[in-house]
Amino acid sequence: MTPEQACHQPPSLCSLLRRLPLLILPFSLLLNLLLLFPPPVTRNTPPGIEPHRLQLLTWTHDAAAEAEAVAAVNCSGHGRAFLDGLIASDGRSSCECNTCYRGRDCSLLLPNCAADADSGDPLFLEPYWQQHAALSAVVVSGWHRMSYRTNGDNFISLQLETHLRLLHEAVGNAVTDGKFIVFGSGSTQLFNALIRSLSPDNDSSSSSLSNVVASAPYYPMYKAQTDLLDGREFEWEGLTSDWANASSSPSPSANFIEFVTSPNNPEGTLKRPVLPGSTVIHDHAYYWPHYSAIPAPSDEDIMVFTDSKLSGHASSRFGWVVIKDKGVYQKLNRYLQLNSMGVSRDTQLRVLKLVKVIIAKVKKQDDIFDFGYTTLSERWSKLNKILSSSTRFSLQKLPPQYCSYFNKIRDPSPAFGWVKCEREEDKDCAAVLLKAGIISRTGIIFEAGSRYTRLSLIKTEDDMDLLLQRFESLVSQEEPAVLVAS
Ligand code: PMP
Repeated sequence: MTPEQACHQPPSLCSLLRRLPLLILPFSLLLNLLLLFPPPVTRNTPPGIEPHRLQLLTWTHDAAAEAEAVAAVNCSGHGRAFLDGLIASDGRSSCECNTCYRGRDCSLLLPNCAADADSGDPLFLEPYWQQHAALSAVVVSGWHRMSYRTNGDNFISLQLETHLRLLHEAVGNAVTDGKFIVFGSGSTQLFNALIRSLSPDNDSSSSSLSNVVASAPYYPMYKAQTDLLDGREFEWEGLTSDWANASSSPSPSANFIEFVTSPNNPEGTLKRPVLPGSTVIHDHAYYWPHYSAIPAPSDEDIMVFTDSKLSGHASSRFGWVVIKDKGVYQKLNRYLQLNSMGVSRDTQLRVLKLVKVIIAKVKKQDDIFDFGYTTLSERWSKLNKILSSSTRFSLQKLPPQYCSYFNKIRDPSPAFGWVKCEREEDKDCAAVLLKAGIISRTGIIFEAGSRYTRLSLIKTEDDMDLLLQRFESLVSQEEPAVLVAS
């Protein structure tokens, strides 16, 4: 209907329709202007970047599009596709499925698939980073830090070092003032680097070796690595209990290097050294609020941390040691120079980004520690509930504890369940669980005996769901406990 035709209509509609072209004109002009000069994209504009710069992006578009395309591949929530993953016959990125899932889009749950609670793969944090994709993505140019050198001494990024110090201060889990920081390819690389740096030089006239020890149950890597790399300067000397109980307790000169894992892997309790006078390597892999209460900042001479358990990026292979003694620091740097010439600069860039995000969210909305703690404490409480009705299996006891980070008494949220088989006939606890479709890690390798076995609680939600299901059905098959009247 034209305006002229419309004037046979009631007068108000008639005048409105007559003015229609005039009303539309400003909107149309505004639309054209917006198309010609779109406003700067301010959503998610990273700090320190002027919004107009975002329109000038040139060489990052393709890489960004590629990254987003692969992130959008549908894996049914039971897997994910990666930029460097396999390509399917139709040219699309393939899904890599969670343990018991299969199919092109990971939608098929394998029947009778065993719940795998073996490795300490920290995939419980994967959803956190998926939810914060925009904050945590890093673009790496083709010419990013090609040199062996970086801007800090000993192949380290000064910015990353500074941010690690800021992180410890913000979390309140370690004192770094007046101490040095050395990076390693995972804390795994740092263990032997430290043992060597703390041991007498092999060209010195000293005939004394360093005796490397730990208290059971202990993280098996310490022994395996020390045995493998056995040198003239140090050797694995077993359990602290053997030495502490010996009639002549070791003198300070006895040259003991004691690994103290606090909180401990496997059972999650805070630990102190046992041998008087020993040199202590404090492995604080799990001294973060997701896994443990933080009663106070640790202020030890040698404290080892790992990004594997902080942000969950075990793949990046990044660990660091905070160290007091300058001489040991220098020896450590020499070892790392000869061993690997420092940590990958690409890894340092990625970790810097992750640490910046973590710091920005400390004690705020979307705090990774809050996310981690909520996830793990729920998992722990579900497992505990199932096992509390069992007389056949028991779980380590962990009390609620005051945490300075959350400023409250909090429930436990350990990385691992440490299960004991209580029945006389269940001597091999890992084998008992395996029969019921649960893959665990036997207590033998923690030097705690086969009656114990470890369950990882930090893998994917799928792994955890299956673990809880399998345990529920195992416990439900138990004969009801016979109550003896007293
Ligand atoms: N220390 C402890 C106690 C651990 O449990 C682990 C990993 N499971 C590590 C160190 C190894 O960490 P990274 O990945 O940094 O080598």
